[in-house]
Amino acid sequence: MKQTVHDAIVIGSGPAGYTAAIYLGRAGYAPLVIAGALTPGGQLMNTTEVENFPGFPKAVLGPDLMNQMREQAEHFGAQIEYDDVVSVDLSGDIKRITTDGGEEYQTRAVVITTGSQYRKLEIPGEREFSGRGVSYCATCDGFFFKNKPIVVVGGGDSAMSDADFLTRFGSSVTLIHRRQGFRASKIMVDRAKANDKISFLLDSVVTRINGDGSGVTSLDVRNTATGQQSNIPANGVFVAIGFTPQTAFFNGQVDLDQDGYILVKGGSTKTSVPGVFAAGDVTDKIYRQAISAAGMGCRAALDAQEYLTSLDNR
Ligand SMILES: Cc1cc2nc3c(=O)[nH]c(=O)nc-3n(C[C@H](O)[C@H](O)[C@H](O)COP(=O)(O)OP(=O)(O)OC[C@H]3O[C@@H](n4cnc5c(N)ncnc54)[C@H](O)[C@@H]3O)c2cc1C
Repeated sequence: MKQTVHDAIVIGSGPAGYTAAIYLGRAGYAPLVIAGALTPGGQLMNTTEVENFPGFPKAVLGPDLMNQMREQAEHFGAQIEYDDVVSVDLSGDIKRITTDGGEEYQTRAVVITTGSQYRKLEIPGEREFSGRGVSYCATCDGFFFKNKPIVVVGGGDSAMSDADFLTRFGSSVTLIHRRQGFRASKIMVDRAKANDKISFLLDSVVTRINGDGSGVTSLDVRNTATGQQSNIPANGVFVAIGFTPQTAFFNGQVDLDQDGYILVKGGSTKTSVPGVFAAGDVTDKIYRQAISAAGMGCRAALDAQEYLTSLDNR
């Protein structure tokens, strides 16, 4: 039996993936979206109120926003499969995509929007209080901790910039880092040190996040040099220990940067492979926002459409 060759397959179903699917659908390409089996809808499915996505003056719940994006994509003809991609063959004009469920799909264009996953502390209380005091996104959640004690965990540029940003909201900001030295650039460290609302707890690791029905109340901390235990009050804990872009299954077939993010050419969404485009957090380690991911999903769909047109005119 002859297999269907899709015009476009979108891998991932966060804001970038669904936006790409809406544009490709409206353009008549009936995209197939391979949405992921575990977290279809992406990172916003794990949050409550999203207050900074334009068009929702009274905020919108993350899962509601993503369900509406899915419905909009389906309305314009997107077909959605809730499965994980496990391998790809991106060589040639017809790309092959294999899923965990054992299906092999063929397509002329691919839009990769698999996002990135924040690294976790993996300590007691982290999962329990996630979204109730534990956050992985200062830009998204800082506002919820006005005049409350905040802790930032990490020693890289993100941790420094988060700590600096969070001083706008918190009654205090304590940066906890497991070593004395920082991975962050000197300028970021100097800026954080010059901010008298930030205090530093170095050679220290958080061992437990404590709380009650109202959310996080304190953290247990161990000094890695002396072994001494302490307890510090905190209502917001921002974990800034890095992200892992979801690119392992491309197995070297698209060019990645040293941290595993997909490289795109210039201001476009074109990857190193013709016919393969990337958008959202999987290629963006700076902005990491729903609206920036959605905007890039739009651009990837337009780049894919131009590519498909050029194939048709060959
Ligand atoms: C707790 C939390 C709160 C946030 N709050 C806000 C906020 O208030 N405002 C804001 O603008 N941003 C917020 N963000 C950031 C925002 O969620 C991300 O920037 C945005 O979701 C990125 O969109 P994306 O489409 O690039 O990727 P993601 O949303 O990460 O989606 C990736 C998709 O890829 C799929 N996928 C991954 N691997 C595979 C595979 N192998 N096969 C198939 N599918 C796969 C996943 O299932 C998922 O559907 C928040 C993030 C978090 C974690």
